[in-house]
Amino acid sequence: MGAALLIICSIIYSLTLLIVYKSKPHIKTVENKIFSILIILNLFGLIIELANYFLVLYNTECLLTYIISKIYLIYLLTFIILFTYYVIYISFEDSTKYKSKLNEIRSNMIKIMGFCYFTFLLLVTFLPINFSNENGVYTYGPSINVVYVVSITCILCCIVFMFLNFKNIKHKKYLPLFFFMPLGMIAMLIQNIFPSITLITSVETFIVFLMYFTIENPDVKMIEQLNIARDQADKANKAKTEFLSNMSHEIRTPLNAIVGFSNLLLEDKNIPDTSKDEIKDIIMAGDNLLEIVNGILDISKIEANKMEIEANEYSFKKLADELVTLTKGRIAEKPLEFKVSIDETIPPVLYGDAQKVKQICVNILTNAVKYTKEGWIELKISHVAKDGVCRLIISVEDTGIGIKEGNINRLFDKFDRLDVDKNVTIEGTGLGLAITKKLLDMMNGKIVVQSTLGKGSKFTVSIDQKIVENPTIKIEEAEKVIEKVQVKNEKLVLIVDDNKINLKVAERLLESYGIKSVSVDNGYDAIEKIKNGEKFDLILMDDMMPKLSGTETFHELEKIEGFNIPVVALTANALTGEKEKYLAEGFNDYLAKPINKDELNNVINKYLNQE
Ligand code: ADP
Repeated sequence: MGAALLIICSIIYSLTLLIVYKSKPHIKTVENKIFSILIILNLFGLIIELANYFLVLYNTECLLTYIISKIYLIYLLTFIILFTYYVIYISFEDSTKYKSKLNEIRSNMIKIMGFCYFTFLLLVTFLPINFSNENGVYTYGPSINVVYVVSITCILCCIVFMFLNFKNIKHKKYLPLFFFMPLGMIAMLIQNIFPSITLITSVETFIVFLMYFTIENPDVKMIEQLNIARDQADKANKAKTEFLSNMSHEIRTPLNAIVGFSNLLLEDKNIPDTSKDEIKDIIMAGDNLLEIVNGILDISKIEANKMEIEANEYSFKKLADELVTLTKGRIAEKPLEFKVSIDETIPPVLYGDAQKVKQICVNILTNAVKYTKEGWIELKISHVAKDGVCRLIISVEDTGIGIKEGNINRLFDKFDRLDVDKNVTIEGTGLGLAITKKLLDMMNGKIVVQSTLGKGSKFTVSIDQKIVENPTIKIEEAEKVIEKVQVKNEKLVLIVDDNKINLKVAERLLESYGIKSVSVDNGYDAIEKIKNGEKFDLILMDDMMPKLSGTETFHELEKIEGFNIPVVALTANALTGEKEKYLAEGFNDYLAKPINKDELNNVINKYLNQE
């Protein structure tokens, strides 16, 4: 009766385990599925074993005893084959060597194991079986021997597979399997020597039970799977950022030539006015393309948490003037009245990230221009000052196409453009407002949208900026818009860039200021020239060059005794923080490609226009 008691205890264990396992949420993986089948199978096996025990005990001759015994043997066979498949499956799981062939290996494995399984099934079903209830209850005979042989072979196979793929089984939690194998083997041998001890199924229960607490615990698995998913997402995100930064570089390089040459042509007196309109269109298209590239870069930077607030003192009037000039430029020939009302009492110097405040305002002003055919656009800036903080309240109202009420909360979803069918002629990516909202969130700002379809919209933004009572910047200087000036004294600039077209753009741009230049297409030649004592007033240095990068060239130049020429990084890398990176390397300044006219004016005035 001891044997029956052991089976009953095992049934209780197995049933409890099944209930606990099923009551927890799982991640649907193949191993999980196999494990849950193993639990159910084990419970089924225990019940059959118990029935078999009593049938053999009371009636060895009955047909039912024969059938139940056969079913029990089939159970044993199925369990061990499935367990073997489980071990083989996980031992390949983390394999890098077989990664590309993993599916092929697994499907071949299923075919081979399936074939073996059905062959043994036939043998177990049709080979004879004998019963004895004289010295304890047990069964014996050829069909039982088949099960023993298959089980021992399977366990040996598992051990071999696990040793072969030991390096692939990265997770320490799979190590208990090495303990289960010998355990199963010992149980098998004991059972063979003392057939009346019903040990195997209970040992299987024990193994399944241990598996639950070591390798198949749903909680641990869930955390592990989440960690794997997070790692994969991190990797994908990193790859995306790298891809975007490369793409941005690749797009900006030709764009530099397009925008640069077009700007030069626009200044050319020999070009007829009719062609100038087309040149303006080229510049506008270039600017649009640049805006798209910047938008994509910005959103990926924000999502990667790489966007930072760079607070500085700035002149509010200069910012407002820039917004007005820019919007007037965007309106150009559109029949739109541009009304501006700016509170005169706004503190002149504020502390905050002027660039981002500008980006937010430009985004909503640009949209107002884009989505308004006729009528007017109004920019209103007012403020509330309290405790040293100035709350800027900026509103942009238009008489444009308006937005459906139900669509207003979709406005800030990235890549979501409303009523695309109606806006087909208006260019856009659906990123502007998503970026605006995220920038505002970073600065604790707010945005409110009021709109009536067909009548117009009003976007109101509020941003807090600190008031600077004693500014360190000179207001007049900060407000001065630097115009393009002809450089008076003869100046010579060294341009270093591996891209021939970009060299030409820079040469021609400098020429338009009356500045002479010398170009080299690699860092070594630049170092050579300086070492030979050639004199330059400024160096414009591209960074991404083959062999010797701009940064490396710059550091080599710094080592030359008496070297004191200002060096400006001129690069198509325009990710956030890039400017700071170059300044931290020691560059005097930074110009992004395509070269912005105002920024170039600043650089020329700063380094070449001083007496
Ligand atoms: P984009 O303008 O590049 O499509 P945005 O994120 O700036 O992307 O705007 C998202 C959508 O919101 C636009 O596609 C447009 O349908 C709508 N929208 C934004 N501003 C206005 C406006 N002033 N008037 C009407 N619709 C607007």
